Amino acid sequence: MAYPLIQKKRKFRDILLLIVDKIRIKKDTNYSRNLIIPSPYKQIFSNKNHTESHPKKSQKENAVSNLTVQQFLEMLQEQNITGLGGGGFPAAQKIKTFLASKSPTKRVLINGVECDPGLVHDAHILKEHHHEIEQGLEVLRTLFQPQEMVLALTNQAGFWKNAHAMQIPHHYPSGQEHRLIETVFQIPIPTSEPPAHHGILVLNVQTLLQIYETVASSEYKSHRFVTVGNLETGMAQVLRVAPGTTSQEAVDQAFPGQTVSHVGGGIMQGREAQGNEIVDGSIPFIGVKGAPQLQAKDCRKCLQCNVHCPQGLDVQSIMDTKQGDAASCLQCGSCSYVCPAHINVCAKITAVKESISA
Ligand code: SF4
Ligand code: SF4
Repeated sequence: MAYPLIQKKRKFRDILLLIVDKIRIKKDTNYSRNLIIPSPYKQIFSNKNHTESHPKKSQKENAVSNLTVQQFLEMLQEQNITGLGGGGFPAAQKIKTFLASKSPTKRVLINGVECDPGLVHDAHILKEHHHEIEQGLEVLRTLFQPQEMVLALTNQAGFWKNAHAMQIPHHYPSGQEHRLIETVFQIPIPTSEPPAHHGILVLNVQTLLQIYETVASSEYKSHRFVTVGNLETGMAQVLRVAPGTTSQEAVDQAFPGQTVSHVGGGIMQGREAQGNEIVDGSIPFIGVKGAPQLQAKDCRKCLQCNVHCPQGLDVQSIMDTKQGDAASCLQCGSCSYVCPAHINVCAKITAVKESISA
């Protein structure tokens, strides 16, 4: 069961806010719900001998500039390229839906916003692979000629030739696909509807890198980036691991002598490691030490979960009655993070969501 690997520290100011929030939520439905969650890392280090271990680059570079849309899609299909942002959806299928959309405006959004405060590999990719990302953007721009092309990131935007770079505030969960679209294009899309149907192609920055490397050299596939974090010492390292790599092998590279303790989507959606697991799309984060266990007490009806739900759900009521709009839940874990009773609220809402869709 996933839960936040860090807990909100409660200070005197927080206790006052509990009272203020209760009053505000009654008066102001637009009250800002997003959380600012501090990074768990004091130091992000890079060991050039270990990171970026991937197959040898091909000497031969394919002629990317002469590709047709059809050839491009066939390449992605042949190489079985899937989204690396967590969804694992086939990239070619997503792009076909985007191209077939009846929307008169085509938009491309490259998501370089870490979806979790415990992940740092999107920032790493944008810094260390600027050239390849720029080339990938150029491929998309040439093939699809979108009216808008945005690269969303959290660090300083810098100069990007082939896309409008937009710096997004460090608010959780601003990297979630539908929320990011709303922030960037001011277009609200229900979470049940794929953005590609609306003429918006969203690709994670890691997927774009993989797409570019695949079409350019035909050799890079399936290697994925993970953040390995030591939550006790506050140190993190980004690795690029080969298919079949296990969580313990990644820890051996990043923090020799340590043992994997937690894995999952990040510090907001982590879980205890179940032995030595294969690092797949569900494990962008590998943790070593330092995560607290939730020790649930009775609900205090403080409504902090409601106040901080980015979807504006009546979380406490859904949890109590097992009814309501659980389908809109993003499973972001904000409710569990803020709960002063340490209840894994997100897990309870997820259970309601699954029972409704079953
Ligand atoms: S679940 Fe937690 S945050 Fe929500 S009302 Fe109960 S005690 Fe408060
Ligand atoms: S109910 Fe769902 S969307 Fe709302 S805070 Fe909890 S996990 Fe996030």
